[in-house]
Amino acid sequence: IGAEVTVSPLPANIGKGALIAVMDNSVAEEAEQTRRDFVANVSHELRTPLTAMIGFIETLRGPARNDAAARDRFLDIMEREANRMNRLVHDLLSLSRVQAEERRRPSAKVDLPGLLRGVLATLHHSAEDSGVTLEAEGLDRELHLPGDPDQLVQVFQNLIENAIKYGVSGKRVRVTLKRIRHEPLLRGPGWAVEIRDFGEGIDEMHLPRLTERFYRVDTHRSRAQGGTGLGLAIVKHIVNRHRGRLRITSTKGEGSSFTVILPETLQRG
Ligand code: ADP
Repeated sequence: IGAEVTVSPLPANIGKGALIAVMDNSVAEEAEQTRRDFVANVSHELRTPLTAMIGFIETLRGPARNDAAARDRFLDIMEREANRMNRLVHDLLSLSRVQAEERRRPSAKVDLPGLLRGVLATLHHSAEDSGVTLEAEGLDRELHLPGDPDQLVQVFQNLIENAIKYGVSGKRVRVTLKRIRHEPLLRGPGWAVEIRDFGEGIDEMHLPRLTERFYRVDTHRSRAQGGTGLGLAIVKHIVNRHRGRLRITSTKGEGSSFTVILPETLQRG
């Protein structure tokens, strides 16, 4: 589809004949289309809160000028929208950074159980506020893996926050760390961190697209809960950088399980 054929005569000093060049542009065109779609999505995501804010500013200048109650309500909404834009810009920068670093293997060693205990401690209060109990299994061991500590915090924070947010009806979220003696996709042993919620679950048809940028099962709900639709895309790139795997399984009505499998050692390549 993207083939480009050029025929040029050979220079006289080389001889008779022609040079036929066939260029396959399909990969480049696909990448260009993906980039265009992304820019269109970003513009739309930024414009939604902006349009709302502009609307409220106009109302505050006009009909609601002397209505103190309306002013407070509108200012609250505008603050929420501005915060949402802020989160979106923050996640876009994060995504761009992790994409840029994806080819560079992490060089540090990470205390994985300690890192997970830290993330659970950070999220303890917000889970409690939502009526969710955080449970941990297998985190009381010594284990150091190759990894980027800040990025791995981001991975588990995103996944546990999602489990609290979307699995709230299940009232508990379980984080389990265990060794996988042989993980075929990693060509060796690995460590699996499973984040399991017992909430509403995800319809099977959505699972393959869940880590796409801005893909949401329910856009309205994600937005209402302050989501940017970029969390799982960021997770995917970070896991790729660690040469790991992200496995998602879910049953509607029973809950979801997001498992990050990290290799015990990073092989070359
Ligand atoms: P968002 O900012 O919308 O939460 P994410 O990239 O983190 O974006 O997740 C993408 C979508 O995947 C969410 O909008 C939600 O529909 C779905 N999702 C993620 N985690 C869960 C979960 N634990 N249970 C149910 N749905 C989930």
